[in-house]
Amino acid sequence: MKLIDSIVTEAASIASVRRDIHAHPELCFEEVRTADVVAGKLTEWGIPIHRGLGKTGVVGIVHGRDGGASGRAIGLRADIDALPITEFNTFAHASTHPGKMHACGHDGHTAMLLAAAQHFAKHRDFDGTVYLIFQPAEEGGGGARVMIEDGLFEQFPMQAVFGMHNWPGMKAGQFAVSPGPVMASSNEFKIVIRGKGSHAAMPHMGTDPVPVACLMVQAFQNIISRNKKPVDAGVISVTMIHTGEATNVVPDSCELQGTVRTFSIEVLDMIERRMRQVAEHTCAAHEATCEFEFVRNYPPTVNSPAEADFARQVMAGIVGEANVVRQEPTMGAEDFAFMLQAKPGAYCFIANGDGDHRAMGHGGGPCTLHNPSYDFNDDLIPLGATYWVQLAQTWLSRPAG
Ligand SMILES: [Zn+2]
Ligand SMILES: [Zn+2]
Repeated sequence: MKLIDSIVTEAASIASVRRDIHAHPELCFEEVRTADVVAGKLTEWGIPIHRGLGKTGVVGIVHGRDGGASGRAIGLRADIDALPITEFNTFAHASTHPGKMHACGHDGHTAMLLAAAQHFAKHRDFDGTVYLIFQPAEEGGGGARVMIEDGLFEQFPMQAVFGMHNWPGMKAGQFAVSPGPVMASSNEFKIVIRGKGSHAAMPHMGTDPVPVACLMVQAFQNIISRNKKPVDAGVISVTMIHTGEATNVVPDSCELQGTVRTFSIEVLDMIERRMRQVAEHTCAAHEATCEFEFVRNYPPTVNSPAEADFARQVMAGIVGEANVVRQEPTMGAEDFAFMLQAKPGAYCFIANGDGDHRAMGHGGGPCTLHNPSYDFNDDLIPLGATYWVQLAQTWLSRPAG
């Protein structure tokens, strides 16, 4: 593994910043202290900053040895927010905020980008400009979308943008990146079936919404098996059915809620259209009325082929071809998708290992992201930062266009 020496030298001090952030987790758009820590470090290293995009977002601006004259610019993005989870770990850097926790490793993402920033500031060993994007509210708040709406790409014009997520269960020292869709679109629906309540012994006197709901849940799966091309991915999960309060009463209404995931907007358009038809017509067929709501949260995360291949080559130069594996697409969602809708780029995984890094005071492990015993592996800091630096250097050394 070919790590950058100056980053390895500073890794322990950056790890202590990571642990400080882990101990003080903040939720969507509330990352005031975290943003202060980031801004403080960047300023200490002589990097000009811009604050306030997406409320708590921080952008660091580093020009290379040419003062940015080449006009080439790249964005590197780290998310900085935590989750509403009570931490199980009891180690010294465990969360000091009950009900909040860095269970997705965004503390590590922040640390890896800081480690790269420190190297950029000290060496300026590139041409053009690197924009360091510290983004709030990935966990459901759509911080990436809000930063873009606030003018991220107008104020900081860049030709490409890259993101990275730590990934447990993959062998430490590996990366994963693939062209095309790697994370799904995330969407929510809520359907209210309005019937007419009656005595349960005299259902013919009312309109029972419960059998209508049952038919609807079954019919939704026909959309997946019969309306969608078999090779396209899509999931409809009805996760909540709320109705009724007594065994002898036919309820007035029934409410269904759940999630839809797809890797393409085309499949999503089809599923939303067909779900609405199925819901409305199933209600109509049973003399009930239908309220149908469908909310699109995050679009699919789609890596552009050239940039994914570029990232793969940079990774291979650091860890060897054999340690750059295929990025298995997942039906989880990621708001970096909004940045990839606006700019070419790639979102990759860096292996968090199998849990060996977990010392005394950790809860049971290994575990997945969003688990109350999760902890980012500090050994990744020099590797992730080396990737950021070499990605930017190599990207910026290419001729414009
Ligand atoms: Zn997460
Ligand atoms: Zn995450």
